[in-house]
Amino acid sequence: MKDGSPERSCISCRRVQGKETLVRFVLAPDRTVVPDLQGKLPGRGAYVCQNMNCLREAAAKRQFARAFKGEVRGSGFDLLAPMLEHLMRERISGYLSLANKAGKVVSGSDAVMDYLHRGTVGLLFIASDCSDATRQRFASAAERQAVACCLLFDQHQLGSLLGKEQRGIVAVTDSGFVDSIRNELNRYGNFFEGGVW
Ligand SMILES: [Zn+2]
Repeated sequence: MKDGSPERSCISCRRVQGKETLVRFVLAPDRTVVPDLQGKLPGRGAYVCQNMNCLREAAAKRQFARAFKGEVRGSGFDLLAPMLEHLMRERISGYLSLANKAGKVVSGSDAVMDYLHRGTVGLLFIASDCSDATRQRFASAAERQAVACCLLFDQHQLGSLLGKEQRGIVAVTDSGFVDSIRNELNRYGNFFEGGVW
């Protein structure tokens, strides 16, 4: 942890740690508990470790009501977990879309394989509905280059994020976007199984 970075404790396990290793939740005006993935929404925050156990326990033991000092809405695990997943996917797709606008995205099997061989791919998106053979081929090429793979989106979703027709294989080339997306993928992977290699 960086020197002087603020610390908070998880409302579930109480472990004190740097803010950046926790997920922040805030109260909407109607007292609904909402994840604040950027950590920038106004108001008091409640923090939970980046793992499903702490989130599940916090919900089960009504720790959100305690942290926010009163009745809260939407703090059930069955609501919080899908909302968290939805928001995390939105952040990942938002970065991919930004990278595309910045000209840091290549798509299509041949072009991406060419970039992979040249070692200029920072991150690979393989559509979840690609054929097994395609997935295998690109996953092994990515592994040889130590490039992380994301399988969270299907061909239709990848295409529309790039403003194109369906896309099965999409690569983000070396740029600041790679770190941003990898951070999001790591956080996603701390909560949810599959989809990130
Ligand atoms: Zn915890």
